[in-house]
Amino acid sequence: MPRIPGTARPLRLHDTAAGQLRPTAPGPVARMYVCGITPYDATHLGHAATYLAFDLVHRLWLDAGHEVHYVQNVTDIDDPLLERAERDQDDWVVLGMRETALFREDMEALRVLPPRDFVGAVETIPEIIEVIGKLLASGAAYRADDPEYPDVYFDHAATGHFGYESHYDAETMARFFAERGGDPDRPGKRDPLDALLWRMARPGEPSWESELGEGRPGWHIECSAIALNRLGVGFDVQGGGSDLAFPHHEYSAAHAEALVGEHPFARHYVHAGMIGLDGAKMSKSKGNLVFVSRLRADGVDPAAIRLALFAGHYRDDRAWTDALLAEARERLARWREAAALEAGPDAGSAIARLRDHLADDLDTPRALAAVDAWASEALTRQGGDAEAPGQIRAAVDALLGVAL
Ligand code: ZN
Repeated sequence: MPRIPGTARPLRLHDTAAGQLRPTAPGPVARMYVCGITPYDATHLGHAATYLAFDLVHRLWLDAGHEVHYVQNVTDIDDPLLERAERDQDDWVVLGMRETALFREDMEALRVLPPRDFVGAVETIPEIIEVIGKLLASGAAYRADDPEYPDVYFDHAATGHFGYESHYDAETMARFFAERGGDPDRPGKRDPLDALLWRMARPGEPSWESELGEGRPGWHIECSAIALNRLGVGFDVQGGGSDLAFPHHEYSAAHAEALVGEHPFARHYVHAGMIGLDGAKMSKSKGNLVFVSRLRADGVDPAAIRLALFAGHYRDDRAWTDALLAEARERLARWREAAALEAGPDAGSAIARLRDHLADDLDTPRALAAVDAWASEALTRQGGDAEAPGQIRAAVDALLGVAL
C-alpha cells in the first residue's frame, strides 16, 4: 500500500452481536476471518461486494499501522458443489479447482488484497476430524440415532450462548436453518436445530477415512477449525454476507466456543448486505447473476466495479443497475482527469475526510463524495499545490483500492 500523509482513524464497525457500532480494537496484529466461496459457480457481484467491504477493513487496519492476519476459506466440499458437478456431469474436484482459480483471478482484477491464509476445506480435513473428535469426547456432539448412518451432530445448546450472534427468534432460526443448508427433519437427531458435523459415507459420495468413521465434514465446523487453528479464539472480525449470520456464523462460533470453553469466538461479527438485480436478491436459485468475469470480458474497468459497489453502503441491500455502473465510470474518469493535473487544491483535508468516513463503519458514499469534492475543485480552479494530485492518487489507491 502506498504511504499517505496524515494519520489514520481507529476503525468502528457495526457488530451484529452487539447490534451497534463498536470500535475495532486490534492488537499489533489485527485478525480477520471472512467466509469464502463454495466454488461451483463464478464470482457474482454479491460476492464481490462482500469481499470489497472486507478489503476496506484490511486496508484501514494497514493504514493504521497494524499487521493484518486475514484468513479466508474455500468450501471445496459441500452439497451444492456435489449437486452442481452431478448436474453438469463434471468432476467435483475439477469444478472446484476451476471456479476457485476464476475467483482468485476476479479478486486480483478487483485489486482485493489477498488473505495471508487462503485455505480449502479438503486440505484441512485432518484438522476438522480432530476438532469433531474433541466435541464428541466433551459431550457437545453426539451420534445420530441411526444404525446405518450414525452421523455426528452438534448439540446447539452446548455453550449456553446460542443465538447471541444473530439474535433471531426461534421461528426465524427454524426457517433459516431449513433454507440455508440445515436438515431439521433428519430422523435420529435430538433437536431439529442440531447441526451436522460429520456425515458418514453414502454410496457414490466422496469420503475420507477417519477415526470418526469414513465420511465428510459439515459446513460450519470447517470455518470453526480453520479460524481457530490460525487465528485463535477472540479474533477481531468474523465477516461475510448477511445471509451467513444464521445459521453459518452462529454455529461456527458455537462449535468453536464449545471446543475451547471461551466466548466469544470473534469480537465483531460483520455482515455485508445483498446485491439485487431487477428487484430480487442476486442468487443462484433465481438465476439473476451478474458475474465479475463477464463484466471484465465486456471490457469494464474493475476500478469502476469497485466504485459502483462503493456508491452504496456495505450493510445496505442494494441494486445493481446499468446506471450505477455508468455513474461509476464517469466518476472514475473525473477522478483520473483531476489526479493527472500538475497541481490541485490542498489534499490534506480531503484525505482526512476520506479517512474519517471510511473509519465510520465504512461509509463509502461519503468517502467517495470527499474525493468528488476535491476533484471538482481541482478541475474548476486550475493550479494550487503540486503535491496534491499525487497525494490523492496515493490515498485513493491505499484506502479505496482504486488506481487512478
Ligand atoms: Zn464460514
